[in-house]
Amino acid sequence: GANLQEETIRVRQLLEAAQIEFELEGDAELHHTPPLVENVLSMSLKEAVTNVVKHSKATICRIIIQQSPKETKITVEDNGTGVSKERDVTQGHGLQGMKERLEFVNGSLEVYSSKENGTTLHIEVPNVIQ
Ligand code: ATP
Ligand code: MG
Repeated sequence: GANLQEETIRVRQLLEAAQIEFELEGDAELHHTPPLVENVLSMSLKEAVTNVVKHSKATICRIIIQQSPKETKITVEDNGTGVSKERDVTQGHGLQGMKERLEFVNGSLEVYSSKENGTTLHIEVPNVIQ
């Protein structure tokens, strides 16, 4: 979806259906972000939460949205099993596709994962298209 606020409503429903507690921190209404970048962020959020539902066995998923005139950041955290093996990250197309789309708008994706703390995705994009 194109709009991040609408996407947060959809992911809330997705997580609710999967009985995963949802926490949203920050303003999902983006004030500085160009539509193309917002579109990439919305798709990234959707894929991140779909992964939480499909793979994590988490009980909590927290989304943190931070925006400044310069850049937009989204963190998606779960308290699940973590990505089981290093090669797992390159197995599907979801994370790879997300990374490529983010890089296309000069953004970045970082994945942190452990058995103890679950998985955290850091998504960061500048608001100005170079
Ligand atoms: P696709 O996204 O193409 O439908 P996929 O979800 O398996 O398939 P990716 O989204 O690229 O592929 O994720 C790669 C792998 O990383 C997953 O198969 C899964 O093993 C692991 N993974 C991703 N996100 C999580 C998560 N939140 N918790 C645990 N494992 C995860
Ligand atoms: Mg996926």
